[in-house]
Amino acid sequence: MAQYNGPVCRLCRREGTKLFLKGDRCTSGKCAFDRRSAAPGQHGAANKKMKEYGVQHREKMKTRRYYGVLEKQFKNYYNEAERVEGMTGENLLSLLERRMDNVVYRMGLAESRKEARQLVRHGHFTLNGNKVDIPSLLVKVGDVIAVKDSSRDSVKIKDLAESIKSRLNPKWLEMDKENLKAKVVALPVREDIDFPFEEQLIVELYSK
Ligand code: SF4
Repeated sequence: MAQYNGPVCRLCRREGTKLFLKGDRCTSGKCAFDRRSAAPGQHGAANKKMKEYGVQHREKMKTRRYYGVLEKQFKNYYNEAERVEGMTGENLLSLLERRMDNVVYRMGLAESRKEARQLVRHGHFTLNGNKVDIPSLLVKVGDVIAVKDSSRDSVKIKDLAESIKSRLNPKWLEMDKENLKAKVVALPVREDIDFPFEEQLIVELYSK
């Protein structure tokens, strides 16, 4: 299945929650969900009661859309989360947080994960000094993510750096705003993720 390129505010309405896919607009008075939260479509406003499967499916879609991950990739993350020690749901969220595009977003160098993904793809970042252009790459403890020297003069990066915002100031990232880099000092844990995911529902869905 291809990446969704339609209007993203529609996804928030579909999932019945704000997914924060549009940067500052999401916290401004212009947020489409704040103005109209009913699901899109002719029967969107109808109060439909979902069955167990529907609730679990929506939780998976909500999580996928929040991180901008395709179905197949998501299932691969789930399989890995199940394989390693610990709670599968929490492992899954930790893996998603460790994606390179999410790290750039958390560093405050992109308005949204979508923008972060594009910046990584265009080769504006390095990982431990080496250029990377793979948004799905997973960082590990000790890794250093930085804006590439030659990208520091790009108008886009300069603009973003001027308004740098640390998204939730995650404890697992040690930010060096001056030098536009961050070090991974720990693996992200559930408490670091300030979004009301009900990851247990995803585990139940895949365990059927
Ligand atoms: Fe969702 Fe509102 Fe952001 Fe649009 S502006 S992506 S509806 S949170």
